[in-house]
Amino acid sequence: MSRNLPITRRDFLNGVMLGSGAALLHHAAPLAAQSNALATPGPDWYGFGGIGDYANSHGNTPEVVARAHELRDGRYTPVPGNVTDTGEVFDVVIVGGGMAGLGAAFEFRHKAGAGKTCLVLENHPIWGGESKRNEFMVDDQLLIAPQGANGFSIPGVDEGAHASDDGRYYDAIGIPREFQYPAWDAKHKPLRFANDHYGYLYWIEHGADVGYYIGACCGAPPAINPWSRNLDNTSWTTAEREQLLRWRNDTRRLYDGKDFERWLDSMSYQQFVEQVMGLGRHVSDFASPILAGAVGLGSDAVSAYAAYAILFPGTINFYPPAVRDFSAYQRHSFPGGNDGFARHFVKRIIAGAIAGDDSFAAVMNGRVQFDQLDLDGLPVRMRLGATVVAVEHTGDAQGADEVQVAYTRDGTLNRVRARAVVMASGGWVNRHVVRDLPDSHRAAYATFKHAPFLVANVAVRNWRFMYDLGITACRYQGDFGFCVNVRAPMQVGDYRPVLDPDQPAVLSFYVPYLYPGDPAPLQCSRGRAELFSAPYVDYERRIIMQLRTLFGTAFNPQRDLAGIILNRWGHAYVVPEPGFYFGRDGQPAARDVVRERHGRIAFGHSELRGNQHWGPAAAEGARALQQILEVL
Ligand SMILES: Cc1cc2nc3c(=O)[nH]c(=O)nc-3n(C[C@H](O)[C@H](O)[C@H](O)COP(=O)(O)OP(=O)(O)OC[C@H]3O[C@@H](n4cnc5c(N)ncnc54)[C@H](O)[C@@H]3O)c2cc1C
Repeated sequence: MSRNLPITRRDFLNGVMLGSGAALLHHAAPLAAQSNALATPGPDWYGFGGIGDYANSHGNTPEVVARAHELRDGRYTPVPGNVTDTGEVFDVVIVGGGMAGLGAAFEFRHKAGAGKTCLVLENHPIWGGESKRNEFMVDDQLLIAPQGANGFSIPGVDEGAHASDDGRYYDAIGIPREFQYPAWDAKHKPLRFANDHYGYLYWIEHGADVGYYIGACCGAPPAINPWSRNLDNTSWTTAEREQLLRWRNDTRRLYDGKDFERWLDSMSYQQFVEQVMGLGRHVSDFASPILAGAVGLGSDAVSAYAAYAILFPGTINFYPPAVRDFSAYQRHSFPGGNDGFARHFVKRIIAGAIAGDDSFAAVMNGRVQFDQLDLDGLPVRMRLGATVVAVEHTGDAQGADEVQVAYTRDGTLNRVRARAVVMASGGWVNRHVVRDLPDSHRAAYATFKHAPFLVANVAVRNWRFMYDLGITACRYQGDFGFCVNVRAPMQVGDYRPVLDPDQPAVLSFYVPYLYPGDPAPLQCSRGRAELFSAPYVDYERRIIMQLRTLFGTAFNPQRDLAGIILNRWGHAYVVPEPGFYFGRDGQPAARDVVRERHGRIAFGHSELRGNQHWGPAAAEGARALQQILEVL
């Protein structure tokens, strides 16, 4: 495969065990001592990035973090003399090249009409936002893993005009409905694998062999697949087990009113579990990290409606019985997670962006042609590494006929002009960037809180330490993260990873930052400080210690570990606190205020859904694009 760039020994030394030696396994990470986020992180912060087109863009890059802090601190005020006018005028500028920005650009391609021009400005070295990939080369085998968004289910074929947002795009961008996974050799003991990194935590745990270390102590073997055994193999107390089972198995619809969605949105999931279901803190705490994997924070902080949107216990009883049946439910994950969707959008927006034709295999495996993205004459152009710092109408927003967009790139402040702008970047950015933002939008954005998240992809030369225990996934209470698994790796074209305990694989840790009991804004800022303050080597140490805690000496870092890539997302998820979806005290929801067009600027990003997901993200971008077509 042409993507396979050679990886040097030095890359691996940078990626693995920078602080190797016995001390590595016994040293506590000095995170608390470094509580201030770094203004300009260095290479010791960013660490190993793998190989291929995404090697320089894993999580937020040091440059993106530095520019964002400068923007927040008011460093950028375009005035005559400090900004270079490129002389370019576009019909539309889209800020942000994640799923929302790509959804807006896709809509532009279909709806704007001939002769119209569009520029996408994206601050990372490659498009995709939270939907990007990591690539490793281990013992001559290419391994691909998601940097963030990773899982999807296939929407129904007959949804037609009423398609859900995933269904609206699925066929339009050419995603197949059948996928290939490697066979599990009959010479091995029977084991089940999740296809993604999330479903096994609740909805399709029956599809994997999951070891629970919760309550187990000090090298004790995990309880394997405890839910199928009514938790009788766990070390939870009888009362705890009984409550957890009631949580999972309660089929009562616990509220009769028609306005049950607003009712759910009036309380946290913790209040729902404890006050409505009558269960204890033990249960809502158990749910917290799973919930955080979808909406950033845990049960104490997020609306019960957020839990309803992902079919969580108790709230699921508001759905019809067919939806509650997970027995045939399947999730999939492209090799690089939702980068598969992002790549398909890009290929259909700028045909030359990815080498090769538009078949599934070519779009997934082709090299990115960076020099084809920003060419004169393309209806949609994409400029990478460009951090937008100021967006403002020329004159009064209601009467203006253009918007000025300033961005910094390679140390230079530049300006383009647009007839209209879609802000497909998150609220924490937009409130600083849009200089003439109305008070209504500013107040609405002020209510959005953003939680950080870390995805650590750990390449191992083998995963026999899990195989021998009879597990392919685990859930635990520990110092680093709360779950980790080996996916059944999707095979695409000539990307054909194997599934064998003695062959390389990637273990993916999905790590939320939770401080239950603290108000949500404080949890977010504490989490961000913890996420950003630690150098790479501290995380490396914690990951190794966590693997040793789980698997003992069966995991030998010197022998088994091949590489670690950290993907740090400072503002990964908006936190949908109670009232996020339907508003509070009779006031409209803040997200609906943000959806109102401001002159020639419209706002569309995944946060506005509360539960961030690829199809709705693209649909929010498309909705914003349609709003500005009204003024073009
Ligand atoms: C850990 C994790 C797991 C997830 N798992 C799933 C999943 O399994 N399935 C799923 O569907 N979704 C998942 N998601 C949700 C995911 O966030 C959305 O699906 C979607 O990718 C978000 O798209 P977006 O465009 O709204 O935001 P983003 O992906 O954040 O894109 C916004 C882009 O704008 C750029 N930008 C910001 N500021 C500027 C600026 N000033 N100038 C230029 N560019 C700027 C950003 O860098 C970014 O590239 C997950 C998210 C996380 C964090």
